[in-house]
Amino acid sequence: MARDFTALYGAPPEGVWAAPGRVNLIGEYTDFNEGFVMPLALPHTVVAAVRRRTDGVLRLHSADIPGPVAELDATALEPRSGGWAAYPAGVLWALARAGHTAVLGGADLHLASTVPTGAGLSSSAALEVVTAVALDELHGLGLDRPALARYAQRAENDFVGVPCGIMDQMASAACVPGHVLHLDCRDLTVRQIPFDLTAHGLTLLVVDTRVQHALGDGAYAERRAGCEEGARQLGVPHLRDLPYRALPHAFARLDDERLRRYVRHVVSDDHRVARVVALLTSGTPGDLRAIGPVLTEGHASLRDDLRISCPELDLVVSAATAAGAHGARMTGGGFGGSAVVLTEAADAERIAAAVHDAFAGAAYPAPRVFGARPSAGARRLRPAS
Ligand code: ADP
Ligand code: MG
Repeated sequence: MARDFTALYGAPPEGVWAAPGRVNLIGEYTDFNEGFVMPLALPHTVVAAVRRRTDGVLRLHSADIPGPVAELDATALEPRSGGWAAYPAGVLWALARAGHTAVLGGADLHLASTVPTGAGLSSSAALEVVTAVALDELHGLGLDRPALARYAQRAENDFVGVPCGIMDQMASAACVPGHVLHLDCRDLTVRQIPFDLTAHGLTLLVVDTRVQHALGDGAYAERRAGCEEGARQLGVPHLRDLPYRALPHAFARLDDERLRRYVRHVVSDDHRVARVVALLTSGTPGDLRAIGPVLTEGHASLRDDLRISCPELDLVVSAATAAGAHGARMTGGGFGGSAVVLTEAADAERIAAAVHDAFAGAAYPAPRVFGARPSAGARRLRPAS
């Protein structure tokens, strides 16, 4: 990275940083309801080599996107412009708007990524967070992980124009190896929950269906609006404020069948997060296998109540569980993207083959399957600290 940077820009970088993509174990579409999520960082990262400038110029290059270096005026950035460059540019813009004007000096940035793009594994959040952590350290801004994640989210919401929640950026910024991140999306408090798959003889397979549904964007906004409307009709600030035991009562007070389904999904998925936390933390060691059925139940809720799954994701779950996986569910925004499968390590290859066979049998393009270890959040790679 440093060599490529120097070849591109004529001087070495001041540092090299990495930020990971993520999968979410449980708690889907709960983040914007100020509820709970439980992601883990993937070993796949976006890596960025960065050097500060003082002339207000922002130069950006990606090894993964053919094309010349993009050159922008850091002091005159406009939201909703610039293709992939909008993600890093948006982070600089969000920092500057919040008063961190040192970043307006500009920067040279070169990046390369191993996070599959558009697979629901949050390459966009990794790209934002790696930019945020690099600018924070280079300018000595002293921002903590939740603050970095908020600026990254603001870049995606207000500069790129994608209305995502906070989960992806927090996962990329705050995960630690060997753990899942139990995140309260109301105040961004975190609890690192041990999730040592290897020690338990388990594997978490990630299955990228390679399906990208264009319909995803509008559907996300529709679910979000529906959840807000449900909360309004029930007289709570957010669905997070509705206790699980109050669900039957809430049902009786909603006459819209669609809103009932959305409310039931969000409140029950918050509850599933709590159940998974209890299973992983009670007893030593925690009961990792027992979370499998909770994951599969979460998938059914996303499929039947929130209705954001697709035939390919449903097939991953049915084929994997039929072949003996402990549990499986879609992960991320839905309508395509990826699923996670919890299995005995010894069964992982056989279960991956069963999913491949099921896809071949349905004449779907072959999925991409890999095993995920819970990995580190954003960090500096060089110079080593
Ligand atoms: P996801 O976050 O699920 O991977 P998104 O559509 O949210 O999918 O983000 C993908 C976008 O992020 C890409 O279209 C591109 O603009 C940007 N991006 C991701 N990885 C890279 C990369 N290595 N180089 C340049 N841009 C990237
Ligand atoms: Mg994204």
